[in-house]
Amino acid sequence: MTGKKEKAKEKREKRLQEISLLRTIPYSDHQRWWSQETIAVVTGANRGIGFEIARQLAGHGLTVILTSRDTSVGIEAAKVLQEGGFNVDVHQLDVLDGESISEFTEWIKEKYGGIDILVNNAGVNYNLGSDNSVQFAQQVVDTNYYGTKNMIKAMIPLMRPSAAGARIVNVSSRLGKLNGRRNRIQDANLREELFNLDTLSEELIDRTVSTFLQQVEDDTWQSGGWPQTFTDYSISKLAVNAYTRLVAKELSDRPEGEKIYINCYCPGWVKTAMTGWAGNISAEDAADTGVWLALLPDVAITGKFFAERREVNF
Ligand code: NDP
Repeated sequence: MTGKKEKAKEKREKRLQEISLLRTIPYSDHQRWWSQETIAVVTGANRGIGFEIARQLAGHGLTVILTSRDTSVGIEAAKVLQEGGFNVDVHQLDVLDGESISEFTEWIKEKYGGIDILVNNAGVNYNLGSDNSVQFAQQVVDTNYYGTKNMIKAMIPLMRPSAAGARIVNVSSRLGKLNGRRNRIQDANLREELFNLDTLSEELIDRTVSTFLQQVEDDTWQSGGWPQTFTDYSISKLAVNAYTRLVAKELSDRPEGEKIYINCYCPGWVKTAMTGWAGNISAEDAADTGVWLALLPDVAITGKFFAERREVNF
């Protein structure tokens, strides 16, 4: 191994050790604002990072609603946690199916009255390695961006007032960073419009993703100045990141006692089905920042993007 590669490996191992260490820091009684009555909903929780987030939240003593688009797969996944003694309930939920979302919403209202935490984890990516096909661009944008948006819109009215505030965590990606050094949108004006909270709007985000999808249909997307790596996925996550900031702004004038905090994070490159198990971090470690954001004690952080290791990025 060359010196450079060895150094990178050492650095990565050190970071992984740090994540493991972070996970061992206990919450003190006064930090622990949650209880068994606290309800956390996790989307796409039947496997991968979503399952781990569900497992860790349940491990902290919350009641977790494990959702899965396939009912029987969800029941099997929940059983693993229930047999471990965790408070885990399970329900079918396809974030792209309006009827499924409505049914889920009604079920939650009736059974629990409301929720306290929403983790938007469900996502898809159809490229691996250096592939950059846009064959499934519509589905990628629909699931990652519109699915997340659907759930936020459906769950905000169900979020219960509390002194600690309700929380939304969006599992995103640094590939969608608006002003990253690499892989960014080339149009500086569009970047500025999407970055500036005075010009950022839902209409602008929707228009940006539909311009891309139109170019995919016309086969002109290659010269559209879009991110170069996993283009469809990067755009979908860029939209999630921008939408996180927008919703944080929209929610910011809620009165004390009815606050909702919303943040997003990149779990790193994770050993799950999505990467063909080629990542360099386990789902367990990848869940850490998401769980930490869901449980944040004493602090009113909102509209931010975090990297793994609980590092704030914007
Ligand atoms: P997996 O492919 O292992 O899991 C994805 C989950 O999303 C599955 O439970 C899947 O359900 C679910 N899902 C997909 N479409 C829908 C839908 N329409 N409705 C409900 N659930 C759906 O991937 P990961 O665990 O790796 O990914 C989880 C999240 O982390 C995603 O948002 C991903 O973009 C993000 N992420 C992952 C990275 C990585 O390196 N793995 C890096 C950065 C971000 P089903 O089992 O039915 O297919």
